[in-house]
Amino acid sequence: MSLLVKVHNSDNVAIAVKPLPAGTEIEGLHINQDIPQAHKVALEDIPTGSPVIRYGVILGYAMNPIKKGDWINEFMLELPTPPSVDDMEYGKNIVTDLPNPPVTTFEGYENPDGGYAGTRNILGISTTVQCVTGVLNVAVKKMKEELLPKYPNVDDIVPINHAYGCGVAINAPEAKVPIRALRNLAKHPNFGGQLMVVGLGCEKFTVEMLLDEADITPENVIILQEKKGFDAMIDALMEMADRKLAILNQRKRTTLPLSKLCIGMQCGGSDAFSGVTANPSAGYAADMLVKGGATVMFSEVTEVRDGVHYLAERCVNAEVRDKLAAEMRWYDNYLAEGEVDRSANPTPGNKKGGLCNIVEKAMGSIAKSGTSPIVEVLSPAEKPSRHGLIYAATPASDIVCGPCQLASGITLQVFMTGRGTPYGLAAAPVIKVCSRNEMKDMWQDLIDVNAGPIATGEATIQEIGTDLFNKIIAVASGKDQSFAEKYKLHNDLCIFNPAPIT
Ligand code: CA
Repeated sequence: MSLLVKVHNSDNVAIAVKPLPAGTEIEGLHINQDIPQAHKVALEDIPTGSPVIRYGVILGYAMNPIKKGDWINEFMLELPTPPSVDDMEYGKNIVTDLPNPPVTTFEGYENPDGGYAGTRNILGISTTVQCVTGVLNVAVKKMKEELLPKYPNVDDIVPINHAYGCGVAINAPEAKVPIRALRNLAKHPNFGGQLMVVGLGCEKFTVEMLLDEADITPENVIILQEKKGFDAMIDALMEMADRKLAILNQRKRTTLPLSKLCIGMQCGGSDAFSGVTANPSAGYAADMLVKGGATVMFSEVTEVRDGVHYLAERCVNAEVRDKLAAEMRWYDNYLAEGEVDRSANPTPGNKKGGLCNIVEKAMGSIAKSGTSPIVEVLSPAEKPSRHGLIYAATPASDIVCGPCQLASGITLQVFMTGRGTPYGLAAAPVIKVCSRNEMKDMWQDLIDVNAGPIATGEATIQEIGTDLFNKIIAVASGKDQSFAEKYKLHNDLCIFNPAPIT
């Protein structure tokens, strides 16, 4: 087993698979300082101003001379300027030789609109404003105790609680993002086309803005200010839920082609192994899914920004490339308005895990997209119109990316982590993939798939990627549950709102 992982032939650094104490002699190197697990060691002398290269790309420039065998950390590199998004080449790297999936069907819930199928059968209850959350939560608790047991084919009742809806500049241009997110969430494929909406009555985000006109009926909408007191509110909510649950209870899983499956890829709490174990395994599974006809989304703008020219080369046409560039420009500007840039992304945990800057994080992050052509680019919370690999632009924040991808229609999310996070979503199962064996040992009962054996040479990316593909199909088909689903680990839905709050 090699204790050093070098990704690309031109790399002048490698990652330590285990902590390497100062004085270790390893593979022709003398280790000069203690090197923590997952951190970088210089494979050659790197003079001041010279590039430090990993994944075959420049992570940064040495601020001081680095000796062969030195530990390279976040304080030693100057960040390169990000690649320009003007005149990026497209269609230069279109890979069609994708791995064959072991199966091309899954068991899902078809939807009346004919779009993506559900992986779960859930009563989703939308809200127009945070003001109704207290009442709704009391009602949902009662629904779960008194109604849900009557309907064994329904998996859960999920309130779409959020912080948007009032005290916001509802006519600001960027208000379209949270509005689109909430409109699309109301019709999520796991909710079976059953609309149930709770409003207050005086909020800025009206029912008319949330729903199409034809859907605004007393059968679908409850306005709390029209109810005579608390008991009447609870009674109305219980009555509507009972009716919707009875309809949902008739849904049945059927064998469907993978073209009815839409899944999301995300990573959080990444480390330097993420880009060589967990994310490439996810990429391999993504390639299999795409080959089988499924739709796979990946996201997180700041975590692809430094590799965006590689993504452009995979765009199928100029239109897709142009939208990719437009989303990057929008985000560059969004960050600049807040007087920061992409270097605000890596967390203390990322750095402890050996990721010294956003370039290194991005190159690892992109690996989860596999090698498929990119057929479409979405603005935050937009719905896709194509099948295949899609770049859905969202913030990288796990808690904001999740709801954006849900609004875009994912019915299952695959989440890669190196440091560990118990993240989960109520509206769709989340499968957790870790990047190192130590993480799996620590969180046996939270990590679903361990990609760590790739770093120690005990498994290949193809093997773990195939295991992950099989896990995705089993969980999507309701034959298996991820740990986050089993324990009901449900993060809040933080709706991305780039518009002002008033
Ligand atoms: Ca993330």
